[in-house]
Amino acid sequence: MFIRDANRTANATSHFTSCGLGYPLPARNVVLAACRMSQPTPSVLVFSGIRAIDPGRNLDSLVDVVVERGVITKVGPKAGDAARKAEGCRVVDGKGKWLLSAFIDLHAHLREPGQEYKEDIATGLAAAAAGGFARVCAMPNTRPVNDTRAITEMLVARAAEVGGPRLHPIGAITVGQKGEELTEMGDLRDAGAVAVSDDGHCVMSASVMRRALEYARTFDLCVIQHAEDHTLTQGAQMHEGVVSARLGLRGWPREAEDIIVARDVMLAELTGARYHVAHVSSMGAVRILRDAKARGIAVTAEATPHHLVFTDEAVIGYRTECKVNPPLRSQQDVNALRAALADGTIDCVATDHAPHSPLEKDCEFQEAATGMIGLETCLALLLGLVRSGALPLARVVDALTAAPARVLGLEKPSLAEGARADLVVVAPERRWTVTAEKLRSKSKNTPLLGQELTGAVDLTLVGGKIVFERQEDG
Ligand SMILES: [Zn+2]
Repeated sequence: MFIRDANRTANATSHFTSCGLGYPLPARNVVLAACRMSQPTPSVLVFSGIRAIDPGRNLDSLVDVVVERGVITKVGPKAGDAARKAEGCRVVDGKGKWLLSAFIDLHAHLREPGQEYKEDIATGLAAAAAGGFARVCAMPNTRPVNDTRAITEMLVARAAEVGGPRLHPIGAITVGQKGEELTEMGDLRDAGAVAVSDDGHCVMSASVMRRALEYARTFDLCVIQHAEDHTLTQGAQMHEGVVSARLGLRGWPREAEDIIVARDVMLAELTGARYHVAHVSSMGAVRILRDAKARGIAVTAEATPHHLVFTDEAVIGYRTECKVNPPLRSQQDVNALRAALADGTIDCVATDHAPHSPLEKDCEFQEAATGMIGLETCLALLLGLVRSGALPLARVVDALTAAPARVLGLEKPSLAEGARADLVVVAPERRWTVTAEKLRSKSKNTPLLGQELTGAVDLTLVGGKIVFERQEDG
């Protein structure tokens, strides 16, 4: 099904790992027109002869899928025969395409309220729709921090007004994300928060973390930790290793992550709370998580596409677009993350979509903000790893759909008859070039600008409604 080209892989620039992408190539003759949000949705939609993949139901076959009034009503060979005659029916030719449950991102920064010049809920959700996501969890490090019922309610209301993918707020663990006083987690949950996190900051005090886990447990909320011992990362600019030494940049040792994950696993065991590690980047954290899971402790974890694809060598040239937190690490760490995602030690892929304007990125490396955008390139990067054999496709689909739902206790996405039609149509072999004009996100801070990727989202449905459709010209 996939085209592999040894020459292109051999020409890969050094900072990309061997996933079969990331080589600067002239743009191919594929022109994608501007994409539209909120299409008029037909009353009956038939996906005809499409490869439907739902690992949760052991489904991977060529079928017809019928969607009526927001619900999947029929799945099976020729299941669309009767429906396609219905008035107002639209038939989507599934030849060469895949149909999956639309994705869930449990880690995105939408910057509203407070930093709408970087992103807002409307542009963030548009980017999510273009990336195949039906649900996006918004981290609370906005201005002000989402540590109250009022802000959580505002986010939910604003997203409902915008339409498109659903937004699930994540509330702060501590007031102002200062690591001291716990938030009113019951209020946050009642207002719609699906988890709590001080993301961007680590909960450094073991005592506060213990109380946070105990308190969150009473509301059955998952506690998401940004694992970074700040005493080991003061002034750090990138991963600590040979590259940081060569560039003369202060390093962020992987042990700063491992120490917190190890401590928190003990606290999760002590409290019996649900504990989730955001953006795992180090092989040590992987080892600790694997051991914790083997011992039956309720820990889960996510990895970002960028930590699965890039190494610290991407930073060479002081490329601020590759400055992220936690930093891009060594090939050994990347290999450990891939193996952990493949065997389920890392449950999910989350984008850590972190928009920044040129103000924060077109500057000295030491001054630059951390983070890169990721909603619109997530799928293509993961499909690159599937093509290279690093990850099984079924695991990637699970990591973007059922696994994040499991972590947060959300309704399980499914291609079963009767399930809500949150769906994405994928063109796995379509090549496209990442350009600033094509990206829906207000910010363009990605090292992938100008890169050709393989694998694109054609159509995203949320509750049966078309929220994104890619138009192709010529
Ligand atoms: Zn973080």
